[in-house]
Amino acid sequence: MILQFLGAAKAVTGSMHLVETNGRRVLLDCGMVQGRRQEARKLNSEFPFDVKSIDAVVLSHAHLDHSGRLPMLVKNGFSNSIFATSATRDLCSAMLRDSASLQEMDAKYVNKINAERGLPFIKPLYNVHDVTETLRLFQTLEFQRPLEILPGIRLTFRNAGHILGSASVMLEVAEGRNKDKVTMLAFTGDLGRKGAAVVQDPETFERADVLITESTYGGRHHGPISEAREKLARIVSETAHKGGLLIIPAFAVGRTQDVVYHLHELMQAKQIPSMPVYVDSPLATNITEIFRQHPESYDEETEQLLLQDGDTDPFGFNMLKYTHSTEESKKLNNLKRPAIIISASGMCEGGRVLHHLRRNIGDPNTTVLFVGFQAENTLGRKLLQGDKIARIYGEEHEVRARMEEIDGYSAHADEGELLEFIAAIPKKPQRIFVVHGEPDATAAMAAGLGKMGFENVIVPERGDRFELQSGGTSNALGKA
Ligand SMILES: [Zn+2]
Repeated sequence: MILQFLGAAKAVTGSMHLVETNGRRVLLDCGMVQGRRQEARKLNSEFPFDVKSIDAVVLSHAHLDHSGRLPMLVKNGFSNSIFATSATRDLCSAMLRDSASLQEMDAKYVNKINAERGLPFIKPLYNVHDVTETLRLFQTLEFQRPLEILPGIRLTFRNAGHILGSASVMLEVAEGRNKDKVTMLAFTGDLGRKGAAVVQDPETFERADVLITESTYGGRHHGPISEAREKLARIVSETAHKGGLLIIPAFAVGRTQDVVYHLHELMQAKQIPSMPVYVDSPLATNITEIFRQHPESYDEETEQLLLQDGDTDPFGFNMLKYTHSTEESKKLNNLKRPAIIISASGMCEGGRVLHHLRRNIGDPNTTVLFVGFQAENTLGRKLLQGDKIARIYGEEHEVRARMEEIDGYSAHADEGELLEFIAAIPKKPQRIFVVHGEPDATAAMAAGLGKMGFENVIVPERGDRFELQSGGTSNALGKA
């Protein structure tokens, strides 16, 4: 078996790994590279292999850094199956269409500048039609339902507890003339936290000869989830007391539903005063609808909330409204206070949250609550760092609002949780490849594994290829 790392190697985006065995090629994830515009564009527009030679794609979850290039693959001639859970497929339908329209807007923006400079026009990476063609290729497979996807390759999805439908991947590869040399290749995908709201806890691998692990929060430690809920209660109560506005920038998938779920629970338990909550993001509204359709992915607590008082919707309650149209969104400008607005984007880099910030950031009765990772150079990071002037749509605004942060809502396990997950695998993996982390995080994670006594821990670079012997030992083959 040959394993090649083609993305999310010493980086957090563009997840893509290639497995070759028995003359077949399986792609694990097909994610979009995000980051500096030109560099990302170049990496996203070409594949380092013959697209038609891929026999199957196995997709861990719907986040764009794992799924975002699937329509490109299809546009370039891929016509075999994409294996994913049904929740992942449904989320991909909403998210890839949204991504296609962003591509088109992005191309328009770049072309306006290129026209002024006399540079050639660019095309969107893909359009909505390419997404439709991609959706035709999905074959859904639920957790713990092993399936032989190609001769000698058996796939089992395990619950990764990261977002709705997110899976860890177990590929049982049988090689040799009699197919008697079996290697279990396990891939964490993105791994969630134990005890997170809504989704079930991550399930450990019962076997992994070769392990590919994520390391997003290598070297970092999150506060407990119970603390996150308490802090949310305190911030909401203070907002009520001041008669102010609470703005929560959040991504459409995961965090929005977690926060809504906790607000519902806190109001029900009368731990916070009742006040209107608005989810102002069309994508989040669509995505929440998909959450409602997948109760099989809920944890026990969510299921119980669902059963209480004949209440059947953990993501809806009488104080909560979802906006659908721009008109509805504009009405929020004249909102009675106290109130809560949850809106995208999570890092304040675009989307409707910018309109709410523009109007309210100068008001000392406003609180902005960050619940997700804020990357460098984003408005979210600058506000959290205490910048007193915010640039929004080219205008400068004085910042008088209060900034708060809760890190316990992270959808990723921290280093301790990742190490605990790996330690729970009954037999030590023979090889561990550490991916999906910035260089510091990946190095910290590899060091942590070393301290635990794992010997063959490798941090691959993009393009690195390894030949794996049955049972898991490997030879580096260098770059392709
Ligand atoms: Zn993810």
